[in-house]
Amino acid sequence: MVALAESRRHQTTAVTVGDTTIGGGAPVVVQSMTNTDTSDLESTCRQVIELAQAGSEIVRVTVNDEPAARAVPRLRERLDLLGHKVPLVGDFHYNGHRLLAAVPELGKSLAKLRINPGNVGFGDKRDRQFEAMIEAALACDRPVRIGVNWGSLDQVLAAKLMDENAAKPRPESADFVLREALVRSALESAAHAERMGLGADRIVISAKVSRVPDLIAVYRELARRSTYALHLGLTEAGMGTKGVAASAAALSVLLMDGIGDTIRCSLTPKPGETRTTEVKVCQEILQSLGLRTFAPEVAACPGCGRTTSTFFQELAQQIEGYLAQQMPVWKQRYTGVETLKVAVMGCIVNGPGESKHADIGISLPGTGESPVAPVFIDGEKAMTLRGDGIAQEFQAMVEHYVERRFGKPGA
Ligand code: SF4
Repeated sequence: MVALAESRRHQTTAVTVGDTTIGGGAPVVVQSMTNTDTSDLESTCRQVIELAQAGSEIVRVTVNDEPAARAVPRLRERLDLLGHKVPLVGDFHYNGHRLLAAVPELGKSLAKLRINPGNVGFGDKRDRQFEAMIEAALACDRPVRIGVNWGSLDQVLAAKLMDENAAKPRPESADFVLREALVRSALESAAHAERMGLGADRIVISAKVSRVPDLIAVYRELARRSTYALHLGLTEAGMGTKGVAASAAALSVLLMDGIGDTIRCSLTPKPGETRTTEVKVCQEILQSLGLRTFAPEVAACPGCGRTTSTFFQELAQQIEGYLAQQMPVWKQRYTGVETLKVAVMGCIVNGPGESKHADIGISLPGTGESPVAPVFIDGEKAMTLRGDGIAQEFQAMVEHYVERRFGKPGA
């Protein structure tokens, strides 16, 4: 299935965004977006760095007024000074043409411009303002994302398609027509940009909706009808487990179809929750699908009536925390350490089997089992731990395994 996913991705046109490549067979790129007031340079800079350090490979910022537009070049400068090369994307609605003209250094300080064709202007201003945005992209030699959205769909196009549909002997459903309007809005806007001289290697498209089946249908259609690089995301995915589950459901189906060159999870943070959750979820989705590897995996069983102790849950959590804490150092020192697989299992039923599949795994004793914990390394039973120090001893074994397996000989 992964091979199928990769073969489709090779068919999209590669787009360079800063030092990052979207499409053309490149690994699927993780993106995120800040939620600070962009003109608040301190907060925005801090959040961009947090997102980049969490693994966001591109960060989008709102450019909604002149103070925000003037802050972006300073933000870029400050990030560069601090050694953070993460590409910035400017998110424009309604007044992007004016802001790009008013702040000449704005375009160059961005690695990509996001344009929403449903929000560039109304009536006869729509085309003129869209063209002004494309001209600005051409002038500063930057790619664009043409990002249409269910919530800001081009109403003229939608009404025209609705009228055409109503005149058919067997009209399609209203949802079908709206999905078609989204697809057409994206593709026609991209064709318009190409006629103005913006190459396909400068265009990424997205068409976000908030319902999973609609999103899947829209992107399958986009992929069937074009070879533009595609940015995937379920818009307004929501909060907590609902947002995570809906994003994972939508993106996974498409990614396994080979559709999608870059992704974002539009999660609403709970009050006080870090913005980086959306980056982590993108990484987890890609890693779960076998498309990319970001961090070691800990396989832990869910627990059941065979183990009444919470020891294995605590150990799994402890090992996960330990791996996360060690990763920044390990990544510098041990090439490939992110592929490490650790298992922490609750009893003999699946414990030894699952532990053998991991690089290093431990099978803890369930209720009524003798209080010993066999450890498996590379599929073989290596030793048996017992007593109060099991957690510390297993952690030391993981550290030793990492050093032996991923350390450079003689380093
Ligand atoms: S490994 Fe044992 S404790 Fe864990 S879920 Fe399976 S049967 Fe239950």
